[in-house]
Amino acid sequence: MESSATTNIDDEHDPEGATVAYERAQMHTLLDQARGRLDEIDRAVAALRSGEYGTCERCGQPIGGPRLAARPATRRCRSCADLPREPA
Ligand SMILES: [Zn+2]
Repeated sequence: MESSATTNIDDEHDPEGATVAYERAQMHTLLDQARGRLDEIDRAVAALRSGEYGTCERCGQPIGGPRLAARPATRRCRSCADLPREPA
């Protein structure tokens, strides 16, 4: 992306393949998702250190081994997972 910032590629009229703009948008989405996952992992590590890992952030009940095995960075039990988060 950085190298293409100084070039003037007009691919909008290329009948084949995706445009550079589309691929950039897709890359931004993937980067945002990866950053979100890293944030979740950082929070899980912090919870491990504080001893709160495996405890639902909403109801305080244990999240449960199977759910943690499937989603190690989750912060809510299955019952609370679909409930909206409180505004920060
Ligand atoms: Zn819960």
